[in-house]
Amino acid sequence: MTALIDRAAGLYPDSPASVLVCRNCGATYPLGAQHACFECFGPLEIGYDAERLSRVTREQIAAGPNSIWRYAGLLPVGQNPETRVDSGTGMTPLIRADRLADRLGFTAPLWVKDDSANPTHSFKDRVVSVAITAARELGFTRIACASTGNLANSVAAHASRIGMDSIVFIPSDLESAKITQTAVYGGTLVAIEGSYDDVNRLCSELAETDEFESTAFVNVNVRPYYAEGSKTLGFEAAEQLGWRLPQQVVAPMASGSLLTKVHKSFKELISTGLVDPVDYRVYGAQSSGCSPIAQAFADGVDTVTPVKPTGIAKSLNIGNPADGPYALDAVRSTGGAMTHVNDEEIRDGIQLLAETCGVFAETAGGVTTAVLKKLVESGQLDTSRETVLYNTGDGLKTLDAVSDRVAPSAVIAPTLKGMRSAGLL
Ligand SMILES: *Cc1c(COP(=O)(O)O)cnc(C)c1O
Ligand SMILES: [Zn+2]
Repeated sequence: MTALIDRAAGLYPDSPASVLVCRNCGATYPLGAQHACFECFGPLEIGYDAERLSRVTREQIAAGPNSIWRYAGLLPVGQNPETRVDSGTGMTPLIRADRLADRLGFTAPLWVKDDSANPTHSFKDRVVSVAITAARELGFTRIACASTGNLANSVAAHASRIGMDSIVFIPSDLESAKITQTAVYGGTLVAIEGSYDDVNRLCSELAETDEFESTAFVNVNVRPYYAEGSKTLGFEAAEQLGWRLPQQVVAPMASGSLLTKVHKSFKELISTGLVDPVDYRVYGAQSSGCSPIAQAFADGVDTVTPVKPTGIAKSLNIGNPADGPYALDAVRSTGGAMTHVNDEEIRDGIQLLAETCGVFAETAGGVTTAVLKKLVESGQLDTSRETVLYNTGDGLKTLDAVSDRVAPSAVIAPTLKGMRSAGLL
């Protein structure tokens, strides 16, 4: 890997990124394919040249492509359109959710950021677009991941688009839609008899082998780049609100990375002067079948105790969440909260979002919607503050969650009599 790190130093002439920083001890390293601190084994994150970030203007962003790459000036890679992988990801609808707001008693505007509208129908296209661009800039020839489902879809799709080899690892018990939607793109798909945490452990081991030296695992060895892609969820919400931050955001948590980076994106927008400062609060959502971060929040502790995941929200089933402590910090430091909801509440959440907003979410979106409702009912979320809810995936991927709850209102003969006998006329 040393060769790649050295090469990277010369590959970023236009990038605002300057170093890799340890989130634990603050040690810094040159940009490259490294994800853990040599001093303390803490996770690394991209550090930026503050002066370069502050040169980015709203006008430059607006003149950019209608995708996450309009924010290239705030991302570590992709400044050069030649190496950038632009799958059309991002600029997903920010929907004004007035009927859901009424149902929950909001007096302030409530918005749904619908990330099911991405090319492979989940927010993972954001992180993969950035990670595969980084992989290409760093000289990797194959892309890989450990996935709870949506990441697998996105990695396989992005690889096929640019003709890069891919190898994707998933737990073998994933929803069939997510398996098919990965395998269809070609590439190698390996189903592991074990949990996501087992899959992730294997991938960490593989990333260290000589045979995988030229393979970028998007959420292992190029994770610092991957994680930055989630910032675009925050950038877009602010831009779509007319360059204003919402006062509250509710986001689902698997590893806790997405939530942490939405918080980071808001801090960067404030520090660069792209938006006015707002005392925003960050709220986190988990399913009761896998709630290690929300449990630590409830217990008032900083350490996240790993669990063995169960339950229907498989895309969020990470029992040992790498970014758990940072998600706790983002929520606590902004005065937000976290909670979790059970499988029945998740199904209710899917239906509530569908019936009031016309948005059909996968189980993760059901978790987030049900948590929003629960936080309103417990008084922890303020209905007089403007709020954005993140829906991160498409209901067509997890049809089984609600397929036995909904059905045609009637099955009739194609006649007026048929309508009458069904009481519809
Ligand atoms: C991966 C994923 C998340 C969040 O993942 P983090 O690991 O917390 O960044 C949220 N929703 C869906 C649908 C996902 O696939
Ligand atoms: Zn460190």
